[in-house]
Amino acid sequence: MRRWNGWGHTDVSYPLPDTTAAVLAERVGPGSAPRDALLAEVAASVPPSRLPPHPLVSTEPELRIRHARGQSFPDLIVLRSGRVPAFPDGVAFPRSAEDVRALLSYAREVGARLIPYGGGTSVVGHVNVEPGDAPVLTVSLERLQQLHSLSEEDRLATFGAGISGPRLEQTLNVRGYTLGHFPQSFELSTLGGWIVTRSRGQQSLGYGRIENLFAGGRLESPAGTMMLPSFPASATGPDLREFVLGSEGRLGILTEATVRITPTPEREDFHALFFPDWERARTAVRELVQSGAALSMLRLSTAQETAIHLALSGHPRMVGLLSGALALRGVGAEGCMLMLGVSGSERAVEHSRRTALGIAGRHGGVRMPTLGQKWRKGRFRAPYLRNAAWERGWGLDTVETATSWSNLPRLLAAVESALREALADRGERVLAFTHLSHVYPTGSNLYTTFVFRLGHDADDTHARWLALKTAASRAMVAHGGTISHQHGVGTDHRPWLEAEKGQLGISAIRQMFGAFDPTGLLNPGKLV
Ligand SMILES: Cc1cc2nc3c(=O)[nH]c(=O)nc-3n(C[C@H](O)[C@H](O)[C@H](O)COP(=O)(O)OP(=O)(O)OC[C@H]3O[C@@H](n4cnc5c(N)ncnc54)[C@H](O)[C@@H]3O)c2cc1C
Repeated sequence: MRRWNGWGHTDVSYPLPDTTAAVLAERVGPGSAPRDALLAEVAASVPPSRLPPHPLVSTEPELRIRHARGQSFPDLIVLRSGRVPAFPDGVAFPRSAEDVRALLSYAREVGARLIPYGGGTSVVGHVNVEPGDAPVLTVSLERLQQLHSLSEEDRLATFGAGISGPRLEQTLNVRGYTLGHFPQSFELSTLGGWIVTRSRGQQSLGYGRIENLFAGGRLESPAGTMMLPSFPASATGPDLREFVLGSEGRLGILTEATVRITPTPEREDFHALFFPDWERARTAVRELVQSGAALSMLRLSTAQETAIHLALSGHPRMVGLLSGALALRGVGAEGCMLMLGVSGSERAVEHSRRTALGIAGRHGGVRMPTLGQKWRKGRFRAPYLRNAAWERGWGLDTVETATSWSNLPRLLAAVESALREALADRGERVLAFTHLSHVYPTGSNLYTTFVFRLGHDADDTHARWLALKTAASRAMVAHGGTISHQHGVGTDHRPWLEAEKGQLGISAIRQMFGAFDPTGLLNPGKLV
């Protein structure tokens, strides 16, 4: 069963080892866990629904709680504290495009606002219910999960857009294919959610980003149905798929999506390499991606993140042995860890592996066996750490951006120092560390994790988080970074969007939404 107030499934947890807790206590101060509200207590606070009955709509309180928020840090605060400002008035589970159209008509007739809901894994407020006079209907797409068609000849598959990551991959894998889209939220996020938030998978370098994988589909909007044919390419003016990508539930509900699939690779390797310092590591990664070597993943941690990951691993003896082995090969305290993925046929993997290790070796890169496979096994485990940290009194969140290679050092320094300083006036220390998880020939993303002590109550914790988020966002905008490389805009990044798109750009986006949704029925207040 899924947790209602944290990440993941209730039967999966990874408690923080005492050695890890000791490191956090030393770096940011001892944590003190707040009391969590019980589900029954929150259920008692759910107000009566304002929606008239409809056969597709449930007004059951627990369902309304479970669909009130996503997975952002502020979402965690309101759910854990039980102080949820607003709930959807009802939750619907359509089984077909016809059901979705019926729900759009119903919402229009009863004056409700409608929030499309995929896996609810948004970390920027995309699915949140804002308090207001109009009733709110959340439309969960979890029952739109069928495989409609798969053409081996065309390498295309069409799915219901509510299909989750694991189900989609299982469905393809048994037929010898993969989509290759593995965001860290893979366990719970959905195909439709990936498309409308422009999500990135861990192996997007090899399989392509969701923009490249999304070939077409069907969108139900208040103004009507839009079919997106899946041509291999077309020169017929603006590409309407681009309207849907990043539309964050404002344009319509994607009920079906056709995606480009790849035969399951014969071999998939992950290697861990260590470089003597950040400068050499960063240069190696840039050369690797610019070389065009067929890699599926490059994920480079700064020296600080590398040291913290090792310190937090909870295996001090193994880390000691690893550090000793690295020191013998010229990698000391400034060492930076790179995870490198290669997928394809046996021959292609061997060729890419040799090319990549050659480039890395020229910059002092040293390969450490077995760590790559270990990373692969635990690749979806990190989000559970946020639950564990909270339960020991620490807040753990991430911010992300992207910029050119030439601007990367400036932006990295600005974001990390903004975070480290953000709570100084409260006398609080913040741990901030970064990796590059998505690299391009022209630049890279930056993914920074920060850890701080929870406040003495929910308001204080929220104020701390807001100070941190604002400081990081300001640094991104001031130092040439995008406000989001992969998480989207939602509500949390909305104040910073105009700096990036300009007034004309924002106005064009609004008008485009107006063409599909003239009365502003869908997901109000998100994105713009
Ligand atoms: C632990 C964790 C790790 C994450 N890792 C990554 C990562 O590696 N890469 C990454 O890119 N993101 C990541 N995210 C963010 C999040 O998972 C992505 O934004 C994901 O694409 C959201 O998909 P979802 O199905 O959960 O959508 P939801 O959160 O349910 O919805 C997101 C938005 O999409 C809209 N929507 C959803 N489905 C539809 C549909 N069918 N039609 C129209 N609108 C729809 C909603 O209205 C909302 O505006 C992570 C989040 C968490 C909590």
